[in-house]
Amino acid sequence: MAEKNQITGKKSVLFSIGSETIPQLLEFLRDRGISRVILVSDENEYRALGARVEQALQQNSIEVHNVVLRGEAVSADEVSITQALLPSDESNQMYIAVGSGTLTDIVRFVSYRAKSDFICLPTAPSVDGFASSGSSMTINGFKQTILSKPPLAIFADMDTLCNAPPGLIASGFGDMFGKYSALADWKLAHLIVNEPYNDVIAKRSRAARDSVAAASFKLTEDHEGSVLKVMEALVEEGLCMLEYGNSRPASGAEHHFSHYWEMKLLREKRPAVFHGSKVGIASIIIAGCYQLLHEISRDEAAACLSRTVRPDPEHEKDAIIRGFGNRLAETVTGTQAFYLSMADGDYQDLKNSIISHWDKVKQIAEQVPGQEVLINMLKQVGGVYHPSSLGMTDQDVLDALTYAHYVRGGFTILKLGRMLGWTAEFLFEMVVKGIPGDY
Ligand SMILES: [Zn+2]
Repeated sequence: MAEKNQITGKKSVLFSIGSETIPQLLEFLRDRGISRVILVSDENEYRALGARVEQALQQNSIEVHNVVLRGEAVSADEVSITQALLPSDESNQMYIAVGSGTLTDIVRFVSYRAKSDFICLPTAPSVDGFASSGSSMTINGFKQTILSKPPLAIFADMDTLCNAPPGLIASGFGDMFGKYSALADWKLAHLIVNEPYNDVIAKRSRAARDSVAAASFKLTEDHEGSVLKVMEALVEEGLCMLEYGNSRPASGAEHHFSHYWEMKLLREKRPAVFHGSKVGIASIIIAGCYQLLHEISRDEAAACLSRTVRPDPEHEKDAIIRGFGNRLAETVTGTQAFYLSMADGDYQDLKNSIISHWDKVKQIAEQVPGQEVLINMLKQVGGVYHPSSLGMTDQDVLDALTYAHYVRGGFTILKLGRMLGWTAEFLFEMVVKGIPGDY
């Protein structure tokens, strides 16, 4: 057990991690005169921490409305929203999310819409969204980030975090390893399409990532110390997103890849898999794309670019229907407005920007570690690194390589790769086939 409690107040999110979670929560509620609480968890998380919290609240004469979301895999969707919203009234109430990323996203959204505040009690260091203001929701089958608000406080119980399922802890590491390509993509977008960039925030995100990379080699010998490091880093990433105003500091092509898979699994009624596990594997694939970039000279890049033409809007819309189905086509098409409205001259300007910045593009690529480095780090934390370990088939990988770049509008290496003429089949051959099996 970590005996020390770390309290850092940043951008109005109080973060405390240690062994005094429940007393701190009670004091926090008492200070604010809160007498009514809506406690939201799922069955596992209720067992892990929720039941103890409920009991302590009741013993302190706080009215508790306990919402335990049922089912094997709770999703941040319309069904969960309704259940969590039901006990809400207009009184001086507080929502408390007991759980990992999904539960926090549900409560973040619901408490915002219910005009209440919420407190987050994470049960696993599994994702980086705890402190952020965006709720990652799946509405009508489309994975999207809806602006809500951050929690007032995050009280993390070290003992609960350390006893979280190993797969969830590995998922937290995987989400952090995604920052290599996320930060590279952000810089690439700044360079090529002049997207805003914030050096201070990028530096903080990088520092959090690097501390987790170092901790990955100590998880076995110092479980508690490593879990502490990854939890702190995940919260820091959430704060980076919160302060920057969107997910750019922590999410790039690897997240688009993961979101594509998530929507595909949902559409095909296949079991969900942990967010960070998908991100970890996608990070290996995207790191491979950066390695490819690194090997191309400016002349070769210019030759590749000269062979591709501006995507035809009608063909693009057909591709989106193929990749996402009719139901999501309109929403996905909406994210691509920038590319679909480009004239030939705009497309040529984009190519010119890429060629003129090629040296810097290569410098960005250099900063992304090789696939073997990421695989090794995932191995150290017991994480999976081959798509098949998550039940993803070759076709799932090919589909993500083809369609993931449509998930969001921001410029990433997948957009750049398309302009260079990289096809899904080429990328599969070059950056997927070489990934060793997990066993
Ligand atoms: Zn993530």
